[in-house]
Amino acid sequence: MKTLVQGGYVVGFNGQEHEVIKDGVVVFENDRILFVGKEYSEPVDKKIEARGCLVSPGFVDTHFHSGGNAGDYLLNEPDKPDFFASNYLAHGAPTREGAQHAHLKDVDVGQRFSFIHILKSGVTTILEVGGPGGSPEPYVEMVGEVGIRCYTGPSYKNVDFFHDQEGRLEYDWNDQRGSEGLKKAIAFAKKFNGACNGRMGTMLFPGHVDSCTPELLKDTKKAAKELGVRVQIHTAINLIEFHTVMRQHRSTPVELLKKIGFLDPEVSLSHCIFLTGHSWAAYPYGDDLKIIADSGASVAHSPLKYLKLGITMESFDRYLKAGINVALGTDTFPKDIISEMRYAALASRFADKSFTAGHPRDVYNAATLGGAKLIGRDDLGRLQKGAKADITIVNLKDIAFGAVRDPIKALVETGTSRDVRMVIVDGEILLDNGKFLRLNEDELIDKVQAKGEEVWKSVPKWHWTGKSVDEILPPAFKMS
Ligand SMILES: [Zn+2]
Repeated sequence: MKTLVQGGYVVGFNGQEHEVIKDGVVVFENDRILFVGKEYSEPVDKKIEARGCLVSPGFVDTHFHSGGNAGDYLLNEPDKPDFFASNYLAHGAPTREGAQHAHLKDVDVGQRFSFIHILKSGVTTILEVGGPGGSPEPYVEMVGEVGIRCYTGPSYKNVDFFHDQEGRLEYDWNDQRGSEGLKKAIAFAKKFNGACNGRMGTMLFPGHVDSCTPELLKDTKKAAKELGVRVQIHTAINLIEFHTVMRQHRSTPVELLKKIGFLDPEVSLSHCIFLTGHSWAAYPYGDDLKIIADSGASVAHSPLKYLKLGITMESFDRYLKAGINVALGTDTFPKDIISEMRYAALASRFADKSFTAGHPRDVYNAATLGGAKLIGRDDLGRLQKGAKADITIVNLKDIAFGAVRDPIKALVETGTSRDVRMVIVDGEILLDNGKFLRLNEDELIDKVQAKGEEVWKSVPKWHWTGKSVDEILPPAFKMS
């Protein structure tokens, strides 16, 4: 079946870079793009009217954790003074006794919700870290039902983190835990690569530079080469990690990865905030940016997660200028890749003290071409003949946008997920008129609210203080 999308502003790809075609058209047949240009005169089976809209390649989210919604904000409240805003450790580590209550994510509600949530912001490909760790088969089935493109695998590490009754962090190191985790990840990669009609790709996800031994990381690289899959690892994610690695190895996390031969173009580093020269690291030695750039590794940048904590990458522009491929992710909640583009731009301006930094062109490239490069796909993140028919249509004809001269600047400065009208993956329409077509959203959101209540109620069972969620994190105003 041949479908023609009548823009609007079509973001075509000329082989080198994006270019905007005013009143352009995109024609796709089944899962591939057939034509991008000004006019198409041959017959088609179906027409999609998108005048007044931006017709964009579907966005690529390169750092995503499903199931994080109701409980997620707990992890981002930086109220534990001995953790230096190391958010996931501050609240993410349970007590030993409460460990089984710490995560209430489930495939049917929490994870399904997260996938639909991100799809609704125009993301057509996600890189989900650790999602299938709990229930691989139902997870893969759910991803297939949602219809999004997904690169994933279970996460693994040597360490388990716990809090003692005083709130001190305890690390349980265990070589076997790491190697068994890697084995499971290899089995998942073999079994599910190409699942969901080819929309699922697999990767390896060792946890963090301070939660894996160098041996586990070396084994990961070897396995990735054998499997022909890519690797992503949380790197320079917080100051605890920076100093733990520094004490153990006399290297920064990035220097350690270089030393053990881990870095190359098949690897991406999530977050990568606390590098040499970052104002919080107070470490003026070495040149982490150059190490990453020389290696060809990519960075998956999720600006909102850090802005919530009063931290910025220093800076998006400096990383680009160093020659690093920077892609965008959402990581935390809410998951809105369009807003992440704006956050990346504004955070770069703030870090660089320059309003010329964080250009809309560069953050848009990061959410499209940068993401595709990170996963090694030259048929995603672009609208070009032969590319996958992964298309996002955003309405720009709205009071919120006013008069539109440059649709990319308009998108980055004003757009949010609620402006997304249609999302097409593999030539299939998953979202139309802003509504997900494969499920009743109202019913899902009722289940999500119930799940949220369950998460909040469980907090005293696993949190080291034993206190209720309202005692730990009082609401903005008194509630009755
Ligand atoms: Zn993460």
